[in-house]
Amino acid sequence: MIFEGLAEKLQNTLKNLKGKGKLTEKDVEAAMREVKLALLEADVHYKVVKDFVKKVKERSIGAEVLESLTPGQQVIKIVNEELSELMGGVQSKLNLSSKPPTVIMLVGLQGAGKTTTAGKLALNLKKQGKQPMLIACDIYRPAAIKQLEVVSEKAGAVFFSDEGNKDAVDIAKKGLEKAKTLGYDIVIVDTAGRLHIDENLMEELSSIKKNVKPHEILLVVDSMTGQDAVNIAQSFDDTLGIDGVILTKLDGDTRGGAALSIKAVTQKPIKFAAIGEKLEDLEPFYPDRMASRILGMGDVLSLIEKAQGAFDEKSAKAMQDKIKSSDFTFDDFLEQMQQVKKMGPLKDLIQMIPGVSQMKGIKDIDIDDKELVRVEAIIQSMTKQERQNPSIINASRRKRIAKGSGNEVSQVNRLLKQFEESKKMMKQFTQMNKSMKKGKMKF
Ligand code: GDP
Repeated sequence: MIFEGLAEKLQNTLKNLKGKGKLTEKDVEAAMREVKLALLEADVHYKVVKDFVKKVKERSIGAEVLESLTPGQQVIKIVNEELSELMGGVQSKLNLSSKPPTVIMLVGLQGAGKTTTAGKLALNLKKQGKQPMLIACDIYRPAAIKQLEVVSEKAGAVFFSDEGNKDAVDIAKKGLEKAKTLGYDIVIVDTAGRLHIDENLMEELSSIKKNVKPHEILLVVDSMTGQDAVNIAQSFDDTLGIDGVILTKLDGDTRGGAALSIKAVTQKPIKFAAIGEKLEDLEPFYPDRMASRILGMGDVLSLIEKAQGAFDEKSAKAMQDKIKSSDFTFDDFLEQMQQVKKMGPLKDLIQMIPGVSQMKGIKDIDIDDKELVRVEAIIQSMTKQERQNPSIINASRRKRIAKGSGNEVSQVNRLLKQFEESKKMMKQFTQMNKSMKKGKMKF
């Protein structure tokens, strides 16, 4: 799994915070020491780790966290936001020219995955309705041209090479001319790589840059090389100037050091991530989703935010007290339902629960919001007394409520039963909680 090692360590550290009702500065300090170690072990740049931990600590020790009802969750939310920020915060899209063709130049060291990525990018763009042309400028590596031809074909893209031509700049210029005449809207230039950065390579790349004036120079780097990837990115940016990075082999990267440091160190965004050898295995890079993935959260953050928007802390606390004293009535039930409804369609909410999006079949499940409407109508057909004291709802009252809400008596019966059962369960929970606090019950 991507970033498995880092994810496991961070999740374990943060799990300890989650359950705590109150947090002290000491708790935060201890957790941040663990977070720091986890990031360093993941090969994240030392300075990046230092700044990151400092920021998270500062925010976590603030009043908004320590005095909130769920301080542990708030700290996790902050870690998530800062992780996302580290990787650029928002998705950085390809800079497509308003006057086609858009020229994308791929650069990188040998073996980073440049040629494969050229094919993947072409396929990605084809799926968006573009017509890409791939130009083979890697004239040094044996078989590189043939390899590009094969991936072009698989991606359904046009391929351009100039057999026998030993001048990469000339090939790039000719390819671009052809793309212009034939009206292709994207040109992807696959350049040569070397085992190490050397002057000749940089000169050739600079010359291609000068002649074809790319809209995007994207550096392809192997994420598994950790800090080396960051250094390579820095060198390419210093000598050639890059617009962004494509991180490859993320499928084998259990640490995540490159992904977490590149943007912070070079200020250049990661635009795509390659996650396998197949042509389909290229994803736009979303810093926020990547952060959630590292923390194993699904999109629980949006869920927390939605809940924060829908429930204010005062009324949440009042509701808790009511549940504790088993004073919970149909009026409270109705109020809770209306707050949940403010968060949006249930179907969308379910999708944000961690793990659910990966469960086959669940994606297409049809969750009926009408059921909520029905329950609401039944409660609204009750009198004030009935809502406060459901035990007075006898057979004739049930009939009246059913009629008033346009439902069957059986549906009213079902709701009454569900309500009684939930109340019983809440009572049990409260009692269990009390016993646990007194130390009578241990798990
Ligand atoms: P180039 O020298 O930079 O053009 O690199 P290639 O495109 O030839 O790729 C080198 C090797 O890395 C090939 O065996 C690719 O199949 C493999 N590769 C490229 N991208 C990925 C990726 O995202 N995941 C995995 N697992 N392998 C990849």
